[in-house]
Amino acid sequence: MAKAKLATLKSSLKTLGNRLSLLPVSGRIEQRGQGLYTYRWKQASKGFLREHPLCQCPECDEGRKRVRVATVTDHQIPHRGDLRLFWDRTNWKAMAKECHDAKTAGEDGGFGNAPKR
Ligand SMILES: [Zn+2]
Repeated sequence: MAKAKLATLKSSLKTLGNRLSLLPVSGRIEQRGQGLYTYRWKQASKGFLREHPLCQCPECDEGRKRVRVATVTDHQIPHRGDLRLFWDRTNWKAMAKECHDAKTAGEDGGFGNAPKR
């Protein structure tokens, strides 16, 4: 009895897994995330960059290691459409475009992971 139930559970989990893998989850979240870059965000980002005019990436360290003018506001922890992370100023980093591009190209994830070379 119990054995039969377990087997049913297993097979339904398998079906569920197959179904889930069919959903384009990352694509959807990406799209929702893109929608967050609104006028309101631009204003907030501008204000943040006024307060932090120098790049805060680990290689520049706000002018202590290298002086580069920050032009983009980056999310330290990728928000992936999460509003709380998106608007959390402690999660923001002022970055020079060059540094930001290098970061996005070199890693996929947190700031803590140094790009592998
Ligand atoms: Zn930098």
